[in-house]
Amino acid sequence: KLDAFINLKDLPAETKDGCRVSLKANIEIPEEVDQVLLCGAEGIGLYRSEFLFLTPGKAAEEEYQFDCYSRVLKAMGGMPVTIRTVDIGGDKILPNFQSIDEKNPLLGWRAIRFSLALPALFKTQLRAILRASVFGNVRIMFPLISGIEELEQALALLEEAKEECRKKRQAFAGDIEVGTMIEVPSAAVTSDILAEKSDFFSIGTNDLIQYSLAVDRGNEKVSYLARPLHPAVLRLLKMIIDNAHAKGIKAAMCGEMAGDPLGTALLLGMGLDEFSMSASAIPQIKNIVRGVTIEECRALYEKAKQSASIQENTVLVKSWMAERL
Ligand code: PEP
Ligand code: MG
Repeated sequence: KLDAFINLKDLPAETKDGCRVSLKANIEIPEEVDQVLLCGAEGIGLYRSEFLFLTPGKAAEEEYQFDCYSRVLKAMGGMPVTIRTVDIGGDKILPNFQSIDEKNPLLGWRAIRFSLALPALFKTQLRAILRASVFGNVRIMFPLISGIEELEQALALLEEAKEECRKKRQAFAGDIEVGTMIEVPSAAVTSDILAEKSDFFSIGTNDLIQYSLAVDRGNEKVSYLARPLHPAVLRLLKMIIDNAHAKGIKAAMCGEMAGDPLGTALLLGMGLDEFSMSASAIPQIKNIVRGVTIEECRALYEKAKQSASIQENTVLVKSWMAERL
């Protein structure tokens, strides 16, 4: 079975009736790139840059970040590399930032909120990404955007970082795509507005599910409730994908649902363009994509839309899969 998966590496992620999607990989450190290439990823859909900050002291340095991003971009040889600006805080408590003491860290000072409050640190990261952009195909995305103001502030700081590079005569690519992560319910609901100022969306289902179902994903007592097949989650996902397409941008997903075999056909049916997951999940997901038609995936989604419960959706998807794969 493993051999069959490895043979899949060079085949496209295309349904039987010719609908092509992109399967990309999530990484946390540059060293994972070898594995990414081995699994046949068509790029990196999520580089969790906050893991750089695990090396005490160094990450805040522009040159250190520039070196890490450059290495990843060079190794990926022109394939898209989506660097998410730091998502510090929440459940990601890093050694240098232990002093953040909050009652509700998941509702607190994390991700883009942290970056916007520390613009010098944020712009250091943005300049490092900009300078590395000459080595490949970089995309930038912002985590935990909750509304248009945050996106506009982040974009303004990106413009400042570009200006600073220009002043120092540091080259950067002219056509860098900038995307918004949709992982807060308010962002999902206003995704038509966010799409106007985004080159793409990437749906972070881990947080989107946690926040829309009010379930702390790290709390054992309640984490069983964090289910991607909840009808509310499916409705939000469809809304986000449709709003992206209505504004002519692509909808990607980089949360765990993108690598969950139970989600693949439904997401294809909803029109998702790009799936990003841990590299090792790619062969299995590609196998599903190649084994179905987009027609039948759309029909499956139409049925799921009528379901009232997680249970109903689970039975529906499982029996659908059992008949086909
Ligand atoms: C997500 O929330 O789905 C996501 C991809 O971000 P993270 O898991 O790093 O919070
Ligand atoms: Mg997230």
